[in-house]
Amino acid sequence: MSAVVNGVYINGAWRAGHDVLDVINPATEEILAQVSVGDARAVTQAVDAASAACVGWSQSTGRERGALLRKVAQGVSEQREPLMRVQSHNSGKPLFEAGIDVDDVIATFEYYAGLAEALDAEQDRAVALPTDAFSARLRREPCGVVGLIVPWNFPMVTTAWKLAPALAAGCCVVLKPSEVTPLAELQLAQIIAAAGFPAGVFNLVCGTGLAVGAPLAADPRVAKISFTGSNAVGVQVMQRAAETVKGVSLELGGKSSLLVLEDADLDLALELACGGGFFNAGQMCSATSRVLVADSLADEFLQRLTARAEGIRVADPFADDVEMGALINRAQYQRVLAHIQRGVQDGARLLCGGERPAHLAKGYFIRPTLFTDVPLDSALWRQEIFGPVLCVRRFTTEAEAIALANDSDFGLVASVVSRNDETAARVANALQAGMVWINAPQVIFPQTAWGGYKQSGIGRELGPWGLATFQEIKHVIRSN
Ligand code: NAD
Repeated sequence: MSAVVNGVYINGAWRAGHDVLDVINPATEEILAQVSVGDARAVTQAVDAASAACVGWSQSTGRERGALLRKVAQGVSEQREPLMRVQSHNSGKPLFEAGIDVDDVIATFEYYAGLAEALDAEQDRAVALPTDAFSARLRREPCGVVGLIVPWNFPMVTTAWKLAPALAAGCCVVLKPSEVTPLAELQLAQIIAAAGFPAGVFNLVCGTGLAVGAPLAADPRVAKISFTGSNAVGVQVMQRAAETVKGVSLELGGKSSLLVLEDADLDLALELACGGGFFNAGQMCSATSRVLVADSLADEFLQRLTARAEGIRVADPFADDVEMGALINRAQYQRVLAHIQRGVQDGARLLCGGERPAHLAKGYFIRPTLFTDVPLDSALWRQEIFGPVLCVRRFTTEAEAIALANDSDFGLVASVVSRNDETAARVANALQAGMVWINAPQVIFPQTAWGGYKQSGIGRELGPWGLATFQEIKHVIRSN
């Protein structure tokens, strides 16, 4: 194992922190790296640096900021392979999935570079008023120092969705990666450091939620916290932020549905069910972990889905034929197994999976797992599992399917499979979710918003909404 890596970057310089954390490879259970992480003292210093840098950075032009964001996109593109590898090593996800993550990061930085460049022409735009006695202009100004707190399931991606728009808006940032997966963010930070941002514009403090995330959410100089993670922590972040009336945006959990309507293409439905349930070993806020299938198709669908799930190759993320990798850590592995066990106790019928694959002695691997006959009031049906576990349920009418899908505390995404455009659109419009895919895999574009209804969060990332969340609106009115 190599030397301890500095996990604190403040005011343009790397530093050691106040503690050392082991980073584990989930596929081997071995220590991958050791990172020197910060605490409340580092957070204070990072916010000092960001506050000082804001004076100049907030006055920079959108064109200047856009140029730097393009450099980051270019740097990530040049480092594509090493970034993929570190992402797979640290997350346990197959290399091809890590490639999708890196491409998403590149697309996000490029997209927000474009929005930053377009800002200059928009600034000070005249506002039409109902009188000639006054004139008004509109300014969009950066909201100041922002704290970005991200989870472990899509490291670098959840970061890019916050970091690129925050920098595009002219904010100065303090980023806190997940303590479980800091390695990709550390590499991304090297690329940002090399791009030439003024010192203090971008700061990073690795560390635990309590040591780093909590003081960041509490610091009165931080104008906004953008958080992605669990509902339990999201609530705590919001409570801390409330004490100094900070803006918060929260991207939280989900319990989403895939609706297989009676005129669905069954092959496509099977493919989308596997993608929505087992990509990233099911550790997706957007997992379509409830599969609702029309009664007329259900027998064949269940039989074929079981065969497919049993055939999915669970393996080391670097194996040539890998289809599904490891779960993130021991805690998550045990949590998912406990959910499965409780599901059985609650009366759900296990069709396949539910245990570690026999051929893998080490690593946090769980076989793709299918349940049916899941009680509607069970934890399996209602709570986010965050593992490779799908619950399949039959429905008889379209209205029943919509009601089942909407009967959730969450409302992040949904998928609809139907050969009839009109039916699919009608169902999509009736679903309480921030994103609905029709006959499509879970593609996400920087141009389309990300975020959910109900307890899936507050606000939207990506698109112009992702930029607006880091801007204040100012109107200047004068007498003519
Ligand atoms: P988590 O809530 O445990 O941690 C998220 C981040 O918050 C980590 O960086 C953690 O260190 C930090 N944190 C922990 N305690 C904190 C505190 N008291 N104050 C401030 N920060 C604190 O979540 P996780 O386990 O890393 O990620 C999984 C969760 O993230 C799932 O619930 C999933 O649904 C959610 N998620 C949502 C989206 C989305 O876009 N909606 C995307 C990815 C993940």
